[in-house]
Amino acid sequence: MTNNDPTSLPPPTYAGGTRAITTTPIVGTPRREYAEMYVPGAEPLEDGELRITVLGSGNPWVTRAQASGSILVEVGNPERDLLLFDAGSGSIANYGSLKLPVNLLDKLFLTHLHADHMADLITISGSFSKVGRADGPVRVWGPSGTEPRLGTRHFVEAIEEALAWDTAAAGGAINPASLKIVVNEFHFSQTAVIYEENGVKITSFPVIHALSGAVGYRIDFAGLTVVHSGDTRAGWPLVYASKGNVDLLIHECFPPAAALAAASGLSIERATMALNAAHTAPKAAGKVFGLVKPRMAALWHTPMLAPQIVPMIFAELRTVYDGPVVQTQDLTVFNVTKEAVVARQANVSDQVAPIPGQPRAPFTPALAPPPAWWADALIPID
Ligand SMILES: [Zn+2]
Ligand SMILES: [Zn+2]
Repeated sequence: MTNNDPTSLPPPTYAGGTRAITTTPIVGTPRREYAEMYVPGAEPLEDGELRITVLGSGNPWVTRAQASGSILVEVGNPERDLLLFDAGSGSIANYGSLKLPVNLLDKLFLTHLHADHMADLITISGSFSKVGRADGPVRVWGPSGTEPRLGTRHFVEAIEEALAWDTAAAGGAINPASLKIVVNEFHFSQTAVIYEENGVKITSFPVIHALSGAVGYRIDFAGLTVVHSGDTRAGWPLVYASKGNVDLLIHECFPPAAALAAASGLSIERATMALNAAHTAPKAAGKVFGLVKPRMAALWHTPMLAPQIVPMIFAELRTVYDGPVVQTQDLTVFNVTKEAVVARQANVSDQVAPIPGQPRAPFTPALAPPPAWWADALIPID
């Protein structure tokens, strides 16, 4: 039986909690035992499994507790693909705590072009190429806009151009192919398959957020389905795209307006406006969950996540939905298998050395000659 008492929810990890924020951390009957916390490096991904880790659970106000929006999907296919959905500020620091190969982080799917969803693309392209992502370009998928300059292609090409000094400074030390960003733009308004590789199919669907040109994604692999809303108000295209059994539905959710106003210092009018114009209140999220009926539902992109706010979110949501729900925070981890969906928190170190991974393309570095004026400018040491 589901324990729906919101007062029995664990606190966020930044406030001392060790468990996922839910009263139902396990749905189904797992075929193996899961440690209380997920320890990176200690649990190899199983064949046919999906492991989903929230790298960023927050919004534009990036904090040490909540990076901006990002979700990582590890695929239990032979390639062990890593699929990244959004890369908000600070989220890539959480990737760095997961002890995963740097060179496999080269597929990014953008839900939309708000800065809290894409700011760390520069880190993935410019910086991670210096610590192991050396095999080839970053590939970015994302929606078009209502005009070319509002689309993903324009954004990616402008970022690549803006990285001119970083790229030139790499000289011959870094594989120039790894400094490129390859863009795959698709039409924002259609529900359509936009990616099909290595047994994974990804479908994009339009969502209602701020401006035309935002999407959500459905991921299908080995009979498992995960749906991710991106930023949105409650909308039918997501429901229609969620046909069949959905194992995990990650939907954005803001706190109730009064709680948001109290926690953020916004007036109740401003908080209500922010919520209603572009986002989803707990009751609306509950309504969507009731329509989709996923095995496990999850709330994401929840600003000002605080111990006193979480019960308010659940109390409002529970007026319309009583199935299993997790309030995600940074480093909430879902193990999705045919048998079960399990939600935990990761137990990570703050300082982890990069793991470059097995190179998939050969590259021999050759240092470019230094600028001539350095010879006189350098202070001789010996
Ligand atoms: Zn956002
Ligand atoms: Zn947004």
